[in-house]
Amino acid sequence: MKITDVEVVYLKIPTVAMEANGTQDAAVVLVHTDDGITGVGEAESSPLVVKAIVEAPRSHSVMVGLRELLIGQDPFAIERLWWRMYEGSLYFGRKGAVLHAISGVDIALWDLKGKALGRPLCDLLGGSTATKVRAYASGLFGKRPEESGEKAVRFREAGFTAFKFGWEDFGRDPRSDRAHVEAIRRAIGDEAPLMVDVGWARDSGGAVWDVKTALARSRMLAEYGVYWLEEPLHPDDLDGYRRLSAASPVRIAAGEEEAGLPSFRDLIERGGVDVVQPDVARAGGVTETMRIAAFADAHHRPCVPHHYSTGILGAVSVHVNASIPNRLFQETPAPGEGSVLNTDLVAPAFKLDADGCVVIPDGPGLGIDLDPDVMARFRVG
Ligand SMILES: [Mg+2]
Repeated sequence: MKITDVEVVYLKIPTVAMEANGTQDAAVVLVHTDDGITGVGEAESSPLVVKAIVEAPRSHSVMVGLRELLIGQDPFAIERLWWRMYEGSLYFGRKGAVLHAISGVDIALWDLKGKALGRPLCDLLGGSTATKVRAYASGLFGKRPEESGEKAVRFREAGFTAFKFGWEDFGRDPRSDRAHVEAIRRAIGDEAPLMVDVGWARDSGGAVWDVKTALARSRMLAEYGVYWLEEPLHPDDLDGYRRLSAASPVRIAAGEEEAGLPSFRDLIERGGVDVVQPDVARAGGVTETMRIAAFADAHHRPCVPHHYSTGILGAVSVHVNASIPNRLFQETPAPGEGSVLNTDLVAPAFKLDADGCVVIPDGPGLGIDLDPDVMARFRVG
């Protein structure tokens, strides 16, 4: 079998708002073969940037678009193709958008291999060590504390047993932050894991949080048994993360902006964070996320795949999560928070079981199919 084409499909809902919602557009990556099997992946990035990285013509030996590096190659040789893409894009890549594009291709190659062999992805990753993974509902704080509490009730009634709230106005005012967390805790009970995602908060003076602000807030959140505090500092502030992680009574989580194992090495070894959150569609695909998870495991850190995009990322995240020893939770956009691209792009749709766990899809590859109507309706170009 040979790769015949690599296609990036740009999907977008009609109006993309300036809100922290990663489900408003998507870059779907399709790897086609001469056998007629197509692998489906996703790159979690700016879709037209990913398209350009795939389609770029060769400039010289270490500056080549991904498609040219892949056409004519054996799609089963995923590790070799990963390094071929990484090295062939070295001068404009290594991190950021190029790793996002490589992620999309890598996910599609794993899906393709699973489809060709008739086995689910987690079987190819060594055989999963779990049949399901506990999900947490990931949503935005409400505008007012009461609204945060109402959302928490809604997420709980939808079957979730763990919860994360983030962004919006959180971080500006300690009293308001406390009121939000208090309302949520009241709604979900004392036992349920609750996580808080700061998402680049600014304080009342308009400054991005520093270590002292984060530490003060972490002490307040500890009173409510918050399980982790996510992204409290600028992603480049690794020395700040080191000081904060050492002093904070609440675990510090980070990693959704990072791409590539070297960045996660720095986040863990220099930043000292407690929980790492690679996004499979940004960090380097299935291949690199498995390496990141192993590195985190060797440092006794849980690995919690970030997911706030379409059901493609949802499905691949669950397969990866089920295949790593340091699994903890699977992030899942909460009901009513994600767009139609999150809920309707793939079948079967995401489902929780009675324990609040997401069941691993058992079809070949990722175990999902793209909905042709949704693809046609939201396709741009
Ligand atoms: Mg986050």
